[in-house]
Parts: sequence; structure tokens; C-alpha cells
Amino acid sequence: MPMLKLEPAVVRNRKTVDHQDQRAREFSLVTEVAEMLWSSLDIDQALQRALNRVGESFGASWAAVHLEDQAAGKPLIRAQVGPVPFEVMRNGAGALRDLRADLLIGADATVGAQITGGVLPETWHCRRLAIVPIKANDRALGSISLASNLLGRFSSGDEATLTAVGRVLGAAVAHSQLYQRVRRAKMEWESASDAIGDSIALFNRDRRTMRVNLALAQLRGWKITETQGRTCDEVGFCGGGCPDCLVGEALRDGKRLDRELVTAEGRIIAVTMLPVPGPDRTVVQVAKDVTDERHQARRLRELSADLQTTNGELVFTLDRLRKAQTQLIQSEKLSAMGVLVAGVAHEINNPLTTISGYGQLVMARLSDDPAFDAAADVIGDDVACIVSECDRAAKIVRNMLSFARLQPSEPTQQSLADLCQRVVALRAYDHRKHNVDMVCSFADDLPPVWVDAGQIQQVLLNLMVNAEQAMKDRAEKRLELSVRVEPTCGAVRIEVRDTGSGIDPDNIRRIFDPFFTTKSVGEGTGLGLSIVYGIVRDHGGQISVDSELSVGTTFSVRLPIRSTQSGTIALVACAEAVNRDFLSAVFRGWGFDVRTASTTFQALDELHAPDVTLLCLDDLIVASDPARWREAWAPVADRVWMVGIASRAGDEAQPLLRESARVMLAAPDDLCQIRAALSAQQRGEQ
Ligand code: ADP
Repeated sequence: MPMLKLEPAVVRNRKTVDHQDQRAREFSLVTEVAEMLWSSLDIDQALQRALNRVGESFGASWAAVHLEDQAAGKPLIRAQVGPVPFEVMRNGAGALRDLRADLLIGADATVGAQITGGVLPETWHCRRLAIVPIKANDRALGSISLASNLLGRFSSGDEATLTAVGRVLGAAVAHSQLYQRVRRAKMEWESASDAIGDSIALFNRDRRTMRVNLALAQLRGWKITETQGRTCDEVGFCGGGCPDCLVGEALRDGKRLDRELVTAEGRIIAVTMLPVPGPDRTVVQVAKDVTDERHQARRLRELSADLQTTNGELVFTLDRLRKAQTQLIQSEKLSAMGVLVAGVAHEINNPLTTISGYGQLVMARLSDDPAFDAAADVIGDDVACIVSECDRAAKIVRNMLSFARLQPSEPTQQSLADLCQRVVALRAYDHRKHNVDMVCSFADDLPPVWVDAGQIQQVLLNLMVNAEQAMKDRAEKRLELSVRVEPTCGAVRIEVRDTGSGIDPDNIRRIFDPFFTTKSVGEGTGLGLSIVYGIVRDHGGQISVDSELSVGTTFSVRLPIRSTQSGTIALVACAEAVNRDFLSAVFRGWGFDVRTASTTFQALDELHAPDVTLLCLDDLIVASDPARWREAWAPVADRVWMVGIASRAGDEAQPLLRESARVMLAAPDDLCQIRAALSAQQRGEQ
């Protein structure tokens, strides 16, 4: 049985006192180290002071603190005391593994430092070694290495103290790393916001600035250090009326706001308020001066609208020029053809009259003289046939002469409805025979027109006969004739609409050409529409066609109606006869007394007559002597209202016309456009 060795009470008490002293020293060491670490924000300085104290407390021959460095990918020394061996300096606690010493490497220890004996190289100048892990939340951050020459050092009794020191260091290092990260993030945010040219301010719940960026500080003339604690009113982009300003609203509602403010200097500022999520209730304000942008955008919009208008005008003018050109070609073609036709018709007319005369003479003899009774039976019918064919030929010749328009029109006051009804009555028998459904509609307010009744009836007849022929093979045969007033054009509009075959788009340009026909020989001469065109233009009117294959065709004729008191004189000074004749007819149709001039000399001569109140002047006349026009125009400018006609641009003529004319017409062929110009004049005079 083993002998029980009793310890005397005095020895026991002595041990208890020593143990308590030891605990007190350890506690004071850990507390001191903790204070050192928390008293400084400079972690390296704090680590060094803490290590000095720990080294001194354990009588270390050398000591080192290593911390893991992410950039280097290994632990780096951050504090040292005494001659730390090179290997330890370089590799930290990892170097101790290479010794194969029977030492516990503290970096992976869970219980802190455990100290055992081991063989250490001479050069390390130590016989005992302790490696203490530096940890925070179970994350290894580094280690403390402590060396001693005394064999009894770092007993298991030191374990708790060293572990506590390692933990305190771990907490301090983790805190410092966190602090560094926050500081770096703050600096990054600040330098990023300073690099932005727009004004940025961060407001707290009291609507005071926590930080403003450099752009805003410079705008207000503050130093960055003076920017904290400013009210949103001082910053100047809250719209005023605090606390119900933009900052107040964003703080209250916690929602993004986008507004535009106009400063007292007239600058436009786009302000965005961005509440920051979280309990602190802060809000970021971004203010951007968008004055130039908005002005540029407005200017761009205006420019684009101008461009569109100009483009529209251009397209319109081009269209009108094209139409004018077609009309001109048409008129020139017609007049050339007219001269030819007139010559031929005259030549044929004489022999025809002779043949017809002799034929009738023979017929009279045959019927009067009994001596020819027998012959009358044999040749009477033949002679009658000669006479009637002569009449047919004479009719064709009359048509040709009418196309050549050698008979001047004799306008008298007429009711268009009456003229139409007369023509309809003429065709009534044929309509019944061929099942044509004739529909007429005449507006109640039709004014009388000044026209050559025979010629206008011929127009209506030609259009109706064409319509009937186009409906010959159609199931539905509906022919509409309507007349109404177009006040804006100062005209009546006659429409002849059919449900016929329609006109092939390839032919539509040519239908007014003399001798153009799609009908078989004997059925059409191709003169009908040329005659219509000539008569309508002679009356100062316009004709147009609208057609769709297999659906039908509408011919529209506009004729001017009298609306001007007689005695008002219009001088039409145009170099080209086609324009001059047409414009004269138009103005006459409207009731003007018209005078014409084809040269500068004639025009200026007429212009000085005091009763001329309207001048229709084309650029070709001006171009012949711009200097004289300039001189002559000035004294009459107040009295005479000028309509300029830009038929073909003359370099010098155009500016003068543009300056002097109240209205410029691209081409003188549109009744409605000329009427609009005159209405503007009449409005201007009132
Ligand atoms: P013509 O009737 O003698 O052929 P016009 O000058 O009157 O001569 O007409 C020329 C051509 O225009 C016609 O041959 C025909 O092709 C076309 N045309 C005229 N009016 C119509 C219409 N209402 N429907 C279809 N085609 C038409």
C-alpha cells in the first residue's frame, strides 16, 4: 500500500498564495496588453508595444508577431523583439515545422500554446519556444512566437495566459482590419463622388449635410472641411419651403424623386433624391445643371420642325412645278397642233363645202325636174349618201376647228345647272337605251358663271360621252354629274363620275394629248379631251382626273366665279403667252378688268396708270431689266399689290420679286393657290 505523504498546512497555504499571485500577474498582463491595443488606431505600433510587454513578462530572448498577408500569400512579420532568427522572420510559425522539433505549432492549435521540450538550432539562441495562434471568430489571422533560454519556461501553467493574449491580439487585429476596410471604402466613395462633375450631397434625418462632393463645395465656394452640417436650404437644390422641400419629401416618403428646378439665374437643374435604405434615414441628392442640354434639345426640336416645314414646302413646290411643267407642255403641244389642224381643216372645208353644195344641187335637180325622174330612182339615194357623208366630214372639221379654238369664246352670264340639264336632256335617249343610271346633284347656292355656253356644253358633252363609252361593257352603269361651290378657290367644281373601265395608269398622262385614243377607228378621234382642256383653260379653269382600273373615273373641272367688283384692274405681266393667257382668263373669270404685258417696257407703261391695283409679275420679265424694275417699283409699291411668279429662277430677278411681292407663286396654274393669295390681300386691306 503506498504511503500517504501529507503536506504541511503552511506549505499548502504558501502554494495557494503563489497561485493567486500568478493569476493576478496574468490578469494584469492581459489587461495591459488589451489597453495597449485599443488605445491606438495604428495597429503596427500597438502590436509592437503589446509584444514588448509580453516578451518582458515571459523573459523572452526574442519574440515576433506574424500576420497573414493576402497580397503576399503568406504571413509577414509585423512586430519583433530581440534577434528573431532569419527563418522565423521570413516564414513565421511555418518555419518551426521544418525543425521537426517536438513543438506544437500554435497556428493550428485549438487549445492555445502547449509547451514541450525540443531541439532547437544553436543559432536560434533559445531552448524553449511557444507559438500562440492569433485568432478571431475561429479565423486564423497570425501567430506570436516567443523564445526563451531558460529550460523551465512556457509550462502548461502559462497556457491560459498565452491563449488569452492571442485572443486579445486577434480581436484587435480583426477590428483594425475592419476599420481599414471601412476607411478604404469611405475614401473610395469620397474620391469617386469628388470625381463626379454633378453636385452630390448626403443629408441626415435633420436635413443637414453629412458630406458634399468637391463639385458642390466648389460651386458654393466652400472648403470640403466646411461642408458638414449645412442645411439643405444652404446647399440650394431642395426647392425651398423646408421641411416640405425635396429633401424633406424624400426623407418622409423614402422614395426616389426626380424633379427639375429653375434657379433665380434661370439655370435648369435636374435633381434626383435617393433615400439610402437602413435605419439611419439618410438621403443622397444628385443635382445636374441641364440648362444647355435642354436648350440644345429645344433648338434641335425647333430645327427639326423647321426642316419638316421646309421639306414640306419643297415637296409642295416641286409637285407644283412638275404640274406646271406638264401643263406647259400640254398647252404648247396643243397650240402647235392647233395651228396644224386649223390649216388642214380650212383646206378641207372648202372642197367639202363645194362637194356638199353640188350634191344638194344635184338632189334638187333630181326632185324638181321630171326629166330626171328615172335617174332619181337610180342615183337619188347615192347622192343623198354623198351629201350626208359630207355633213359628217364637215362635223369632224368643225370639231378640229373647235380644237384649234379659232372661234374666240363669248362669255355671258349662265346658270351652270341649266347648262348641265340641257346636255343631260340631249343624252337622255341614249341613257335609256343603254340602261345608264344618270344622277345629277347641283348645290343650292350655285352662283351664275360667266362662260361661253356652247363651249361649256361641249365640255360636258365630251366628258359624258366618254363616260358612257367607258361603261359600255360594264354591269353597273352609273353616271353622276355634280356641281358645287369651292369658296376657298373662288370657283365652281363640276364633277363627272362614272363606273366605267377606268384609265390605265400608263395612259393617264396622255389622255389630254391631241389624237390620243384607245378607241377603235371610227369610234374615237382622240380630240375630245384636248378640246375640253383648251376650253377649260380659256375660261381660266382647271381640269383634273382621278381614275382606278375596273372601278371608274372622275373628271373634275373648276371654273372661276365672279367675286371682284368690276373696275378693279389687274395687270398680268408674263413673258410666256401660255401663263399670260391663263392668268388673264383666271382674273377675268373672277371679275377683274385685265390688262396684259409681255415685256418690261409694256408692263412699266401700264403700271403707271393710277387705276392698276394688282400686278401679276413673273421673274422672266423682271430678269430682262432688274435695275429698271427696282427704280420703277418703289413709287407704286404702296398702291399696287404684287403677286410674284417664279416660273424660272433668274438670279437677279428672284430677290427683287421676293422683296416686293406680297405672295410668291411657284407656278401660275392653281386656281386655289392664286385665290388664297388674293384673299390674303383682301384681308390685309381691311
Ligand atoms: P376619244 O374619246 O376620241 O378617244 P378623248 O380625247 O375624248 O378621245 O379621250 C382620249 C382617251 O381617254 C380615250 O380614248 C380613253 O382611252 C380615255 N378616256 C377618256 N375618258 C375616259 C373615261 N371616262 N373612262 C375611261 N377612259 C377614258
